[in-house]
Amino acid sequence: MNPIDIGVGLAVVILFTLISAKLKLLTKGGMYAALFIGALVAIFGGLTWLSLLLAFYLAAGALTRFRYRIKLEKGTAETKGGARSWTNVFANGGVAALFAVFEGAFTGGIYFGGFLGALSSAASDTLATEVGTLYPNEPRMITRLRRKVKAGTSGALSPYGELGIVVAAILLGVVAFAFHIESWSLPKMLLVSVSAGFVGSTSDSLLGATLQARYYCPTCEEETESNPHKCSSECRLIRGTRFLNNHSVNLVSTMVGGLVGVVLVLLFPA
Ligand SMILES: [Zn+2]
Repeated sequence: MNPIDIGVGLAVVILFTLISAKLKLLTKGGMYAALFIGALVAIFGGLTWLSLLLAFYLAAGALTRFRYRIKLEKGTAETKGGARSWTNVFANGGVAALFAVFEGAFTGGIYFGGFLGALSSAASDTLATEVGTLYPNEPRMITRLRRKVKAGTSGALSPYGELGIVVAAILLGVVAFAFHIESWSLPKMLLVSVSAGFVGSTSDSLLGATLQARYYCPTCEEETESNPHKCSSECRLIRGTRFLNNHSVNLVSTMVGGLVGVVLVLLFPA
């Protein structure tokens, strides 16, 4: 770890966080979380790892804003104008940051496999959600493909969403290859990013459709994923467990993505 690289990396992290805060892409808590995660990646992973984190971040930020009004009308937009909270930042970037710390402590290709896998899973899931909700028809539940559900429901699948998964995963693999992080061939980079992205975001959908808490708001007479509801009424649990919300499911799926990355590097060391 070169002190100049670390200095440059930290400066880039601070700059991006301030711009994001200015553009209201992050809440105040989200800003501190992004500084923390960005600093860990810059210090322990280095500039090339940081560039991959930024690629993910820029794609997610741009897409959240992409046709925000349409999603607002459909009721599927992120709240607060799409600003990400600290829970959202940690759920998406926490596992990747942990792999960066492992790299700093031990070094070795498997940690980059975990980092790329975790980020690819987070990126795929973000793009699947953001692009998938623009699908003009009703999506279907991953566990019951015949059942149509409201766009934005956890566990919902649509052709746009699946396309988003693949595009996000390919994008991260190509960026990782372009920045020459680890001396992997492009096929190996894509094998890790696409497999981890697909398995990670699919496990996100499966958990979202099964174990994730789902509530019913008696005031608005509708199903919701948040308790209390946006109308601030106390909701009744109708499915899943209270301990798993959208963010914890996200965190678990990035762990799955990271593990897929590690396993693939162990299977294909060359
Ligand atoms: Zn309500």
